Amino acid sequence: MIVEELNPLVNVQKTIKETCKNLNLSESVYELIKEPSRVVEINIPVQMDDGSIKVFKGYRSQHNNAMGPTKGGIRFHEKVNLDEVKALSIWMTFKCAIANIPFGGGKGGVIVDPKTLSKCELEKLSRGYVQKLCEFLGEDLDIPAPDVNTNAQIISWMADEYNKLSGKNHWGTFTGKPVVLNGSKGRTEATGLGIAIVAREALKKLSKSLNHSSVAIQGFGNVGSNAALCIENLGGRVVSVSEWDREKGFYAIYDEKGLNIKELMSYFHEKGTLLGFSGSCEIKEEEFWSLSVDVLVPAALENSINANNANLINAKLICEGANGPLTPAADEILEEKGIEVTPDILTNAGGVIVSYFEWVQNLNNYYWNEKDIKTKEEKFLVEAFKNVWAMKDKDNFTMRNAAYMYAINKLAEGMKYRGWY
Ligand code: NAD
Repeated sequence: MIVEELNPLVNVQKTIKETCKNLNLSESVYELIKEPSRVVEINIPVQMDDGSIKVFKGYRSQHNNAMGPTKGGIRFHEKVNLDEVKALSIWMTFKCAIANIPFGGGKGGVIVDPKTLSKCELEKLSRGYVQKLCEFLGEDLDIPAPDVNTNAQIISWMADEYNKLSGKNHWGTFTGKPVVLNGSKGRTEATGLGIAIVAREALKKLSKSLNHSSVAIQGFGNVGSNAALCIENLGGRVVSVSEWDREKGFYAIYDEKGLNIKELMSYFHEKGTLLGFSGSCEIKEEEFWSLSVDVLVPAALENSINANNANLINAKLICEGANGPLTPAADEILEEKGIEVTPDILTNAGGVIVSYFEWVQNLNNYYWNEKDIKTKEEKFLVEAFKNVWAMKDKDNFTMRNAAYMYAINKLAEGMKYRGWY
């Protein structure tokens, strides 16, 4: 078992430093972006159903607002920590720059396993998060959205609390709302659709086609399940999906012919497990990572592919659905093996792109249809992919290096015009 430095903040700071050097940027750029510009730590008291009071720790990190208000999800997870939230907000800044949308990066989190809370406790916690942070949020200041273990219901409670506290309807302060509450059509599947589009574009560059390609996906939550569905819609064959069970830990299912994703989504929703799905068999963790597939999409949490399993990988292309699923050591191993990786800050940008559309619709009080949204999302992503690929082609950089270079160069230019250095 190899032990790596798995602190995402330390890792992203290293990448920023190298990228600034590659771009010949002034040291001031590194100083300006190596840490978030503001981080708020809060303690949220919640009266539990049994009458006791429990206090939950939460954070909000606002990394950089050179290009516009900060934007990013709120995560409810027992492993949330300050460095992770900071790193996630830094990645958001770069993601928005690559997607060409007028936002900087933000991120939030609460240390909690939401599955241990009742609905009423979850609502109090969600409202409490907003009560503590209200003055730092706003449609022209910082705009949260859902992330791991948060969803349209949680965002609705948060938006309601914010509107009550501010005495006005500021729907643009939160994105990822349900459509009936001024959310955007196409938001739920936006990240998944984006992953499918980036996979399609990357395969084209490798002289392959997504049509008939075999795909394995780690994680069947919002991102993984919708990526699977959109990949299937574009002709791909999703042969394996892995998940996590509280007692069992990692598990995966496999079907050579391709899993029927719509049916698998209903099955997972109903049974709470992927195991036993018709036509599939269970495979072990090692077999999952070793699958000889065209595309592998890690869509669960950070550091899933690391020094301990990167050597096993036999996929031709990895599309990072989750944020930070590959460690730097894994990156090196995969580069040596000649496996192309599309980085998270490009691959999963579909979510924030449609969040941007939601914000634009809220500010204008005019709502677009689903076809318009999907067409626009595709246009933004194809353009973003083209820009990153052009940067990669300049000097045979990896896609990840190229994505950071594109983002940091743009940010440096914006900060220069603003007179920040
Ligand atoms: P989610 O909570 O809906 O889904 C995550 C899924 O992964 C869960 O079903 C969980 O059981 C599973 N999982 C956890 N550990 C696992 C493991 N070791 N192996 C296999 N499965 C595992 O969260 P999500 O919204 O789908 O987010 C997933 C990732 O994508 C996160 O890194 C998040 O930051 C990133 N992301 C999300 C969005 C979005 O729009 N939701 C946008 C961009 C990036």
